[in-house]
Amino acid sequence: MLVEDLIEQTLILVKPDGVKRGLVGEIIKRLETTGLKLVALKMIKPSKALAEKHYPKDRKEFIEGMGKKTLENYQEVGLDPIKMLGTDNPHKIGLMIREWLIEYLTSDPVVAMVWQGPLAVSLVRKVAGNTLPFKAECGSIRGDLAFDSSALANTQKRAIKNLVHASGSKEEATYEIPLWFSKEEIVSYQRIEELVML
Ligand code: ADP
Ligand code: MG
Repeated sequence: MLVEDLIEQTLILVKPDGVKRGLVGEIIKRLETTGLKLVALKMIKPSKALAEKHYPKDRKEFIEGMGKKTLENYQEVGLDPIKMLGTDNPHKIGLMIREWLIEYLTSDPVVAMVWQGPLAVSLVRKVAGNTLPFKAECGSIRGDLAFDSSALANTQKRAIKNLVHASGSKEEATYEIPLWFSKEEIVSYQRIEELVML
């Protein structure tokens, strides 16, 4: 196996709550100190078309995944999905959350980044922490810096404000990165860790 085959790229967005709370630097610092390499960065107020592509309606596993995770969480914390959301169908819940996510992502600027390195996708997920801040480990971005919950968010019919988006898998990263960056916007250089470890 070649070392190049172990190198991954992943997309991270500092969502509008992160930008408005002045946490862009803090979030970048936490990613930067892992040794991963920042290879693209821009601030952008996403269009509706971009947000719709980023959260694709036809990616069944993504839509239903959000619905199922929400139902599990509701059961765990004793919330009734029918009362809160009007349905307990995971697909319908997923589609509802997707609408809120598009509203959230297009509401204000975001900072989009591509980070690169060995196991970049899972490393960044670990640094980001669980989707739900109360479940995210201390030391993670969402665990240390956020307290929003599905109960709070869904009572207000909005997405959970958890500061960042991070690609969930290599496949998701491969789909997402070209939505946000052209090939020319992704740069190439050496970080000092590469001399030590790669
Ligand atoms: P992650 O961002 O950890 O990959 P998902 O892909 O499952 O999580 O969901 C995408 C985003 O949708 C989450 O980051 C969060 O902002 C939002 N979200 C997930 N579940 C809910 C929910 N029950 N209510 C509102 N927003 C939600
Ligand atoms: Mg996700």
